[in-house]
Amino acid sequence: MKNSIFKTLNDAASRLEEKNIDSPRLDAEILLAHVLNCRRLNLYVDSDKILPLETVLKFNELINRRLENIPVAYLVGRKDFMGLSFTVNENVLIPRPETEILTELVGEYLRSLKNEVIFADLGTGSGAISISILKFVKKSRAVAVDISDKALEVAKFNARKFHVEDRIKFFCGDLFSPLKGRIFNAIVSNPPYIPTKDLKTLQTEVKKEPQLALDGGEDGLNFYRRIISDAPRFLVDGGLLAVEIGINQANSVKKLFEQENFVDIEIFKDLAGIERIIAGIFKIDLKFTPCDKIFFS
Ligand code: GLN
Repeated sequence: MKNSIFKTLNDAASRLEEKNIDSPRLDAEILLAHVLNCRRLNLYVDSDKILPLETVLKFNELINRRLENIPVAYLVGRKDFMGLSFTVNENVLIPRPETEILTELVGEYLRSLKNEVIFADLGTGSGAISISILKFVKKSRAVAVDISDKALEVAKFNARKFHVEDRIKFFCGDLFSPLKGRIFNAIVSNPPYIPTKDLKTLQTEVKKEPQLALDGGEDGLNFYRRIISDAPRFLVDGGLLAVEIGINQANSVKKLFEQENFVDIEIFKDLAGIERIIAGIFKIDLKFTPCDKIFFS
């Protein structure tokens, strides 16, 4: 029988299902729409259409790679985030829907400020967080840092793709290390937060993502310790620090915020009801800052 869109999709979906891929039908549709360079809806409209052999071969090649648990986003080279289609590859973490909550929170905060604003994004990866904020808050500028050169290439590509390259500076380095002497209205980060021992129990798909973007050290909190203790030196008085956190990390990370001069500390849940974002406002507290440090340093 000839390869109609209908048959090709059904065959692929059953192959994916046999290997327990999570959303076999959806994945098959996304991959075929990618090969045909059309929208998913068109697969239904044209379901009787016969596909050229070359297309079927190309599609089956992608299905074979999907069967090896390579995430769909890497296979099509794109992931939607905040309504924008970000370019991704295996050098960056795939942007997650829950990170949109973090992005909106920081965007809203910056929008509420009167003047032009500047924020830092630590561990920018694909640039999804900072580029989305720049798109939605026109008066903002960003400094985005990543330790991976290869991730920064992707982020720079996305900055050009979404025409914000004039408002963002990229630095390769470890968290705050390339930012000495700079002051920001907000600092945002979705750092690696999976405890090292849990890395081997992750979904096979997640294991295809860069370990550098996932491994948060023994208890998963290494990056929060460093970010939260250094942040006061890089924030204006009243500046915002907002980070994404992993499951069951809210209390420990909240304590870290409390140990520094953060007030109005708030925790936000994701759509699955998991505490996912924590944010606080930095207040310079003269009571606790020795006078000699202010006047004579
Ligand atoms: N959200 C990712 C996961 O749970 C982890 C991302 C991160 O470590 N920042 O797979």
